[in-house]
Amino acid sequence: MAYQELSLLQFKKKFPSERACQKELGKMRWPNGFVCPKCSHARAYERPKRHLFECAGCGYQASLTAGTVFHKTRTPLVKWFWAIYLVSQDKGGVSALRLAKQLELGYKTAWAMLHKIRKAMGQRDSRYTLSGFIEMDDAFFGGASKGKRGRGAANKSTVLVMVESKEEHAGFIAMQKVDSMERSIIEKTVKERIAPAQKIRTDGHKSYSNLNELGHSHDGAPVPSNQASEELPWVHTAISNAKRFILGTYHGVSHKHLQRYLDEFCYRFNRRSWEKQLTDRLMTACVNANPVTFAELKA
Ligand SMILES: [Zn+2]
Repeated sequence: MAYQELSLLQFKKKFPSERACQKELGKMRWPNGFVCPKCSHARAYERPKRHLFECAGCGYQASLTAGTVFHKTRTPLVKWFWAIYLVSQDKGGVSALRLAKQLELGYKTAWAMLHKIRKAMGQRDSRYTLSGFIEMDDAFFGGASKGKRGRGAANKSTVLVMVESKEEHAGFIAMQKVDSMERSIIEKTVKERIAPAQKIRTDGHKSYSNLNELGHSHDGAPVPSNQASEELPWVHTAISNAKRFILGTYHGVSHKHLQRYLDEFCYRFNRRSWEKQLTDRLMTACVNANPVTFAELKA
């Protein structure tokens, strides 16, 4: 799929109205033209007020927004499209307060939109697994900095960070908040995020000790703290960049929502060479996302 590069003026011209956004959604849902999922009829009446296509053959009503982040939204699609544009164009991310002001939305609505977009980013990246030579380490995010530091520190979230090392630069990255460093949890995360039979470098933490048994080629030699930036360089760069990203735009986040901010960071990082295509890419991610409700976001 070829992704488009759109300037602000091109974007504004392309999506000036609710109808224009609906047309785009229709095109993305049915790139080869409408086909009724019930009877395969190829003609439909549009019901723009309800974001529906009604099959001219059997009357089946196909929702334009089902299976997208826009599903059941009461916010105009025009504002959603602008939200995607603004989020994709600002490297540092957009806060709910700023989005609310820019798009004339309530704070709660803007907050939920941003989290739905982040969720779509996470879902997009969860389709890929890391491969090659992978650096992996656990990091601690958020909470009070007083008291015990490092592993076991109170009031911090543990995050498993995985980075493909390409020697001179980092490849794809993944970050997963974990409930603990229990071996079974590490195992599950590694299975989800790393392709089978890869090379993995970690420090000597015992929770990593069975990665060989999982079929990986694992180097878990202890890493003295003064050598961490040589032994696990990319993972440490990724951790400090992620912390800066979260603090910079969002001034810290609650543990409950941390994963979605990590997802946003990783999504951006993984597409840093396609900056100009990011709007189109993010639009695609949002159109192919499992919808989530406000209640699910708050949980
Ligand atoms: Zn039909």
